[in-house]
Amino acid sequence: MPENPFFAPSSLPYQLPPFEEIREEHYLPAFERGMAEGLAEVEAIADSSEPPTFDNTIAALERSGRILERVSTAFFSIVSSNSTEGVLELEKQISPALAKHSDAIRLNRALWARIKRVATDDPEESWLLEKYREDFVRAGADLSEAEQSELRRLNEDLSRLSTEFAQNLLKALSESALVVDDAKDLDGFDEATIQSLRKDGRYVLPLLNYTNQPGLAQLTDRDVRRRLYTLSVERAPRNFELAIRMATLRAERATLLGFPSHAAYTVADQTAKTVDAVEAMLGQLVGPAVRNAKKEAEALAEQAGFAIEPWDWSYYSEKVRQARYDFDAGAMRPYFELWRVYRDGVFHAATRLYGVTFTERPDLKGYHEDVRVYEVFNEDGGPLGLFLLDPYARSNKRGGAWMNNLVDQSGLFGEKPVVMNNLNITKPASGPTLLTYDEVNTAFHEFGHALHGLFSEVRFPRVSGTSVPRDFVEYPSQVNEMWATWPEILAHYAKHHETGEPMPAELVEKMKAAEKFNQGFMTVEYLAATLLDWAWHKLAAGEAVADAEAFESAALETAGIALPTVRPRYRTNYFAHIFAGGYSAGYYSYIWSEVLDAESVEWFKENGGLERANGDHFRRELLSKGGSLDALTAFRNFRGREPSIQPLLERRGLL
Ligand SMILES: [Zn+2]
Repeated sequence: MPENPFFAPSSLPYQLPPFEEIREEHYLPAFERGMAEGLAEVEAIADSSEPPTFDNTIAALERSGRILERVSTAFFSIVSSNSTEGVLELEKQISPALAKHSDAIRLNRALWARIKRVATDDPEESWLLEKYREDFVRAGADLSEAEQSELRRLNEDLSRLSTEFAQNLLKALSESALVVDDAKDLDGFDEATIQSLRKDGRYVLPLLNYTNQPGLAQLTDRDVRRRLYTLSVERAPRNFELAIRMATLRAERATLLGFPSHAAYTVADQTAKTVDAVEAMLGQLVGPAVRNAKKEAEALAEQAGFAIEPWDWSYYSEKVRQARYDFDAGAMRPYFELWRVYRDGVFHAATRLYGVTFTERPDLKGYHEDVRVYEVFNEDGGPLGLFLLDPYARSNKRGGAWMNNLVDQSGLFGEKPVVMNNLNITKPASGPTLLTYDEVNTAFHEFGHALHGLFSEVRFPRVSGTSVPRDFVEYPSQVNEMWATWPEILAHYAKHHETGEPMPAELVEKMKAAEKFNQGFMTVEYLAATLLDWAWHKLAAGEAVADAEAFESAALETAGIALPTVRPRYRTNYFAHIFAGGYSAGYYSYIWSEVLDAESVEWFKENGGLERANGDHFRRELLSKGGSLDALTAFRNFRGREPSIQPLLERRGLL
C-alpha cells in the first residue's frame, strides 16, 4: 500500500498537492498525525531549556505543523469546491478538532512565557514577533485557567456550528432550486440557457448564493420571478437558529476576552481599529445611498406602470437601462468567451502591467477535470508560481467566487506560491462559455487576489501574500477590476466568439453610461448586509434574540436602510461570509477597502494608466509585501499620501 501522500512534501512542481493520488481515506490519518506532530513540535519549543530566541521560538513555530498544513490546505479546498458525502462528514468531525488544536497551541502557558521573553532588532522579525504576541493575547493567552477552559468550549462549539451552517447552505443551493415543468415558464432566457437547465424532463434553476438571482433580470413571467425570489430569501431556514446561537456565543467570547462585543473584538486588529471608525464611515454612506435607491425605485415603477416588488427590480431596471441608455446587457455576452477573457484579458493585463507570462501545464492536474493549471513566469523568464483556475459551478461546490492558497510563498522554506481562483459560472451543455459582464468583473477581481498571492516576497509564512487585515485584503483585488474595462485591455479580449469582431465601441460607452443607473440599489443592497452583520455582532453577552427574522427587520429599520424593494445582498440564513466564512463583523471590509481602491485607481490614471512602471511600483510597494509591514504604511508608500474618502463617494454617486 502506498504511503499517505500528506506525510511527505509533494514531489510535484511547486509542491502542488498530488490530487491524483489523494483518496478520501488519507485525510483522517493525516489530520491525526499532523495534529500530533504539530503539538509535539510546539511542546518541544515551549519546554526547551535554551533561552528563548527569535529563531528557537518564533521561527521554530513558523516551521512547525507541516503535515497539518498540507492536509488542511488540500482538504478545505476539496470541501469548498468538489465535496463528497465523505469529506463533508469528516469536516464535521475535523473542524472542532482543529479549533481545539489551535487552542492547545495558543493557550500553552510555557510557550506564551517564552514568546514574551523573545527579543530581536531585525525589523521583519520584530513585526512578526508583534503579530505573534497580538495573536496569542487575542486568542486568550493571558486568561485564567477557568476562563481558558470556557474559551475552549466556545471555540469548539462555534466551529461546529459554522460547519453546520455551511453544509446547510450547500444543500440549499440545489434543494431550493426553482423547478418548472414547462419551458415556457422560463420565457426570457435564451435557448442555450434553457437547454442547460434541463434535467430529467424538467427544468432546474439552481440558486446562487446571494439574494438577487441573475435570472430575475430576464424572466418575463412575474409569478415565476416571485417564486424564484422567495426560494432565494427563504432558503436554509434552520440557519436562522444557528445564527442566533453563533452570535450569542461570539458575544460571550468577546466578553471573556475583554471586549464589549464581537464587533469591537474583531476590528481591534484591523486597519479600522474601532467600532466608531467603522460606524462613522458607514454613517456617511447610508443616507445618500437610500436616497439614490428610492429615486431608482420611482423610475422603475414608472417603467412598470405599477409599484414594483423586490422580484421586479432587476427585470425593470434592465428595461429602464434599455429605454434610457439603449443598453442591453445580454448584447455583451457573445464578446465574453471564458477562455479568451482569461488569455487575452485577465492574463494579458498582468503581462502589460507586471511583465508576467502564463503557460498552461496540462500535465499538472487539479482535483477535477475542469481545473486548469498555469505556470507563471516573471519577465526575465524566472519561475514565479502556479495559478489554478476552477471556473464552473457544480452542485458540490459552494456558492460565490474566491481565491485560496495551496502553497504559501515564504523565504523560510524557499517555497513559491500556488494559488487558485474559484468561480461559479454555469457550464453550457455544449458550445462556448459566454460570460456576463459581472462574471468578467469577478474574474478580474479574483485574479487581483491571485496576484497578491503570486507576488508575495516575504520570509515568513504567517505574513505571506494575502495574510493581511481582512479590511485590507479586498483592496488589491478591487484595484485589479479597473483593467476589465480599460480600453486597451477590453479591445484585446472582448471579441465576438463566432466572428472575432471587436465589441462595438458604442456598446461599451452605453454600458459605462448605464452602469451609473442602479448604483443606489447596489450600494443599499451591500450596506444593508453590512449593517445586518454589524447588528448581529454588536450584541453584548446576555442580550437574547428570540426570533432571527424579527431581529433582522429591526436591525435594518434602526440603521435606516429598510427598503421594501431592496433586501440585503445576504439575509441572515445565507450570510455565509459571516456565519461560515472569515467575515464576521467584517463585511464592512469591502467598502472600507474600496476607499483605498478608488484612491489607487486615481493614482494609476494620474500616472498614465497601463504602464509597466506603474505595475512595478504597485507590485514593489504593495503586492509583494504581504502582511510583513503595517498595511496602511504599505498603502502610503504606494500612494504617497493618506487615503481620502472623496474618490469613493464620487465613484458611487454619493456626493
Ligand atoms: Zn475578493
